[in-house]
Amino acid sequence: MLGLMQDQPLLISNLIDFAERHHADGEIVSRRVEGDLHRYTWADVAKRSRQVAHALDGLKLEFSDRVATLAWNGYRHLELYFGVSGTGRVLHTLNPRLHPDQVVWIANHAEDKVLCFDMTFLPIIQAVHARCPMIQTYVALCDADKLPADSGIPNLVSYEAWIAGKSSDYAWPQFDENSASSMCYTSGTTGNPKAALYSHRSTVLHAYAAALPDVMCISARDSILPVVPMFHVNAWGIPYSAALTGAKLVFPGPAMDGKSVYELMETERVTYSAGVPTVWQMMLAHMKANNLKFSTMRRTVIGGSACPPAMIRAFNDDYGVEVLHAWGMTEMSPLGTLCTLKNKQLVLPADAQMQIRLKQGRAIFGVDMKVVDEAGAELPWDGKSSGDLLVKGPWVIAEYFKGEGGNPLINGWFPTGDVATIDADGFLQITDRSKDVIKSGGEWISSIEIENIAMAHPAVMMAACVGMPHPKWDERPIIAVVKRPGAQVTREELLQFFEGKTAKWQIPDDVVFVDAIPLGATGKMQKMKLREQLKDYKLPS
Ligand code: ADP
Repeated sequence: MLGLMQDQPLLISNLIDFAERHHADGEIVSRRVEGDLHRYTWADVAKRSRQVAHALDGLKLEFSDRVATLAWNGYRHLELYFGVSGTGRVLHTLNPRLHPDQVVWIANHAEDKVLCFDMTFLPIIQAVHARCPMIQTYVALCDADKLPADSGIPNLVSYEAWIAGKSSDYAWPQFDENSASSMCYTSGTTGNPKAALYSHRSTVLHAYAAALPDVMCISARDSILPVVPMFHVNAWGIPYSAALTGAKLVFPGPAMDGKSVYELMETERVTYSAGVPTVWQMMLAHMKANNLKFSTMRRTVIGGSACPPAMIRAFNDDYGVEVLHAWGMTEMSPLGTLCTLKNKQLVLPADAQMQIRLKQGRAIFGVDMKVVDEAGAELPWDGKSSGDLLVKGPWVIAEYFKGEGGNPLINGWFPTGDVATIDADGFLQITDRSKDVIKSGGEWISSIEIENIAMAHPAVMMAACVGMPHPKWDERPIIAVVKRPGAQVTREELLQFFEGKTAKWQIPDDVVFVDAIPLGATGKMQKMKLREQLKDYKLPS
C-alpha cells in the first residue's frame, strides 16, 4: 500500500517560490564590483530569477545544458542560482582563483554553453575565450552602460541588458527531482579535477538539513554573511537554506579583506557567518590590531580545513562568538558533520566542553559514516582507533561527472581520503588527509595536531606540518611557520613550546620560518606545493 500523500518533486524552484511567498521582504544586501551597496528583497530575487529563465530560454539551451559563473558572492550570482537550476539547466560555479589554463580545461570538460562573469574577471575571460569553443554566450554581470566596447570577446552582453524587458511571469518546469541542478569541480590536488554533479533532490534535502539547529542553525532571525564563496561548493548550501528559512543575506562581493568584511558585518547587523580558517585568521588579526568588537555576530561555521583550537578560543573568549566546527567535502554537497554539544555535555566543565568542540562534530541525519582499517573492517567508536573515513547518504556522490576515475564507491560507501576517529558519542575527529599523514618509525603523526599546537603560540600566524624523508624513521615532521607581523620567536623557543603538549617523538625535528604558506584556490594550505618549495631542505642531523 502506498501512502496517500501528494507526490511533489523536490526542486530548487520550490525554494525561491517559497521565499517569495513567505519571506518577500527579507533583505539581500550586496557589495557590488562597482563599489556601492545594493539592497533588495527575496521577492526581487524571485522576480529577476524568472527573467533569467526567459533569457536562458531565448538562448535555445537544452535541458541539462551547463551555464557557468565566474563570480563573487552577490545578488546577480544568487539570481543565477535559482534561474539556471529552476529551468532545468545546470549551474556550474567556476573558481576564479584557478589558473586560466585550468579554467579552460574545466569549462571544456563541463561543456559550458554560457559563462556569466563579474567584471573583475574580464582579464580571465580575455585569456580563455579563444580556447573555449563551446561557450556561445558571455554575460558580464553589470549594467548595460558598464560593458566595455573593445573587450575583444564575441557574443558578450551585459546581464542587465540580457534580462531587461523579460517578463517576470514564468512557470517553472516540473521534472524528475533527480535531474542535475549544479556542479562543482574538486581542486584536483591529485590529477585532473573531477566534478560532483548535484541533483535537485540532493540540494533540497541538504538545504533542509543544513538549517537544523544542530547543523548550521539558520533561521529567519539571522543576518548571514557567507564569506565562503558561492563558487566553493555553493557557499556550503547557505543560499538555498537562506531561501528556505527567509534569512537575510549579506554578500561581501570583491571586498574580502578583514576591514571591509568587519564593517559590513557591523552595518548590516550580521549574526552569522561561514568560512575557511585562513580567512578568519586575517579577520581576527585586523580586529585585534584595531581593538574592535562585534555588536551582533554570534556564530560562525568554520570548516574546509581543521579549525585551530586557538581560533575557536579567540572567537569564544575575546569576541563572544560561537564557532561551529564543520567537516565536509565537495563530494558531499558539502556538509558531513557539525560540532554542537549534546544535552548531557552541557554540565561538563568549560575545558571538557572545549575539548569536544575542537572535534569536527557529529553526523547530520542524511550522512552515515564509519572508519575502517586497511582490510576494510569497521573500527570501534572509541575516539582512539583511527582509520579511513567512509560516508554515504543522499547528498554524497555516487560517481563523478562523466564517470571520471571509475566507480569511487566501496560497497556503496564513498571513501573520503580522510583519516579519522569517532568517539562513543559519535563525534568525528579528522586526524589527517591520508596523503598528509606523516609516518615515523611505523607510527602515524597527525599533521593537524602538530599545527594546532604551533598555532596556539602567540607569535605564530600560520603553520603547516609536513613529513621529510628520514633514513631511519622513514619520515620526520617539520613545521613551516609564518610569524605574525612584528612578532619574534626562535626555532628553539617554538620547539620548546611543544614540550608536554604531545608525545616527545611527535615533536617536529625542525622549524622553518617562511614568508607565506602556499594557499589553494579555496584558501586551504597546499602542502604539495610546500613540499615542492622545500625539496632541497635537509633535516638537521
Ligand atoms: P578539496 O579536496 O578541493 O580541498 P574540498 O573543499 O571538498 O575540496 O575539501 C574536502 C577536504 O577538506 C576534506 O576531505 C578534508 O580533508 C578537509 N576538511 C574539510 N573540513 C575539515 C575540517 N573541519 N577539519 C579537517 N579537515 C577538513
